Amino acid sequence: MKRLDGKLTEEKVFKDPVHRYIHVNDELIWELIGTKEFQRLRRIRQLGTTFLTFHGAEHTRFNHSLGVYEVMRRMVENLQKKSEWDPDERLVCLASALLHDVGHGPFSHSFEKVFHMDHEKWTRHIILGDTEINAVLQKMGKDFPTKVANVIAKTYDNKLLVSLISSQIDADRMDYLLRDAFYTGVSYGQFDMERLLRVMRPMEDQAVFKHSGMHAVEDYIMSRYQMYWQVYFHPVTRSAEVILSKILHRAKELLADDYPFKITPTHFKSMFNDHVTLKDYLKLDESIILYYFQAWEEEDDPILSDLCLRFMNRRLFKYVECDPGKQMVIWPELKQLFEKIGLNPDYYLVIDSSSDLPYDFYRPGEKDKDERVPIHLLMPNGELKELSRQSDVVEAISGKKRTDHKLYFPKDLLEDESTFPEEKRRIMSLLMSQEG
Ligand code: ZN
Repeated sequence: MKRLDGKLTEEKVFKDPVHRYIHVNDELIWELIGTKEFQRLRRIRQLGTTFLTFHGAEHTRFNHSLGVYEVMRRMVENLQKKSEWDPDERLVCLASALLHDVGHGPFSHSFEKVFHMDHEKWTRHIILGDTEINAVLQKMGKDFPTKVANVIAKTYDNKLLVSLISSQIDADRMDYLLRDAFYTGVSYGQFDMERLLRVMRPMEDQAVFKHSGMHAVEDYIMSRYQMYWQVYFHPVTRSAEVILSKILHRAKELLADDYPFKITPTHFKSMFNDHVTLKDYLKLDESIILYYFQAWEEEDDPILSDLCLRFMNRRLFKYVECDPGKQMVIWPELKQLFEKIGLNPDYYLVIDSSSDLPYDFYRPGEKDKDERVPIHLLMPNGELKELSRQSDVVEAISGKKRTDHKLYFPKDLLEDESTFPEEKRRIMSLLMSQEG
């Protein structure tokens, strides 16, 4: 079999609103983009339910994956000028960047929580299993798919290569921060990627940044910090996610109880039974999920139909800030009142917590070392300095984990005082007592 490491006779160019152009010169990359499993990413939004908050956020995992590939292509081009690269390693690197998210499913955040699934595991299965992607990678040699899977799993020997795809400053994050800022339309989230790439220098096991580029690195860290709280953890997006998870829970419960669905969840059955095959998994995309949700608005089960109607028509739950300590005190009474007015608290009273660590460096004796490979600056005298020791801005936010808890509930139903007015007023006053 002919090895697939050649160049295309003519460069292929994709127009991209974030990087302007995405350049493909390698036969391998072009063939990977054409596989079924990669094309499936066109039907999965990058930011899940965020489009219900920021209507521009309709971009897909396909856009993002091409973007990460392009950032990586530019990184490798720059780094190659500064050190020797094995040509095969270059293709391992580009293929890993392109395929790093190929295991994501529709609304993967909620699906992973409800079905205890792990997109990283599926990425590995897709690369190593019986798929078109695997067949293309095999054309580079028997062990090539394993190399790509190992880079993505961060177990590959060449740690520099791993860090370019996953570390605290990598091609994945650079693309999604810029892309998500662009499509949501927010004004924060910008940083000078071109400058970052120019000041990057390869070291043994990670890339470091020339000291003169410190402000570009600071902008990147701050952009990440802003995007998490302003976009990724937006309370309205989380409300939609809460409803989505509850729909999946309800459907699972009804199926277990032999409820006579008008539209049976054929596509979810294997997930509900924990026997998901690669073939089942690859069939799921957002169009399938939304088809069921729309059809289920007509189901006789009042909880399932109400939740689906809410999701499809953006009639989301409202929220109050909550303090988990305080909440324990009012919880029993609140639950009882919900039951009395005919709202199942398992579905209509939900606490959601988010937390983020904007930047951190590894301290001896701590776990999760991999996530904390610090960012290093290369000083004019050749010394390496950890970023937060040089930058006051980064020092101010490093190691500071922020968590927030919100309590979600259907305010519209509680404000309808045609039934149980007293109970509903009491519920609202208990909920409001949580705030402030
Ligand atoms: Zn990604």
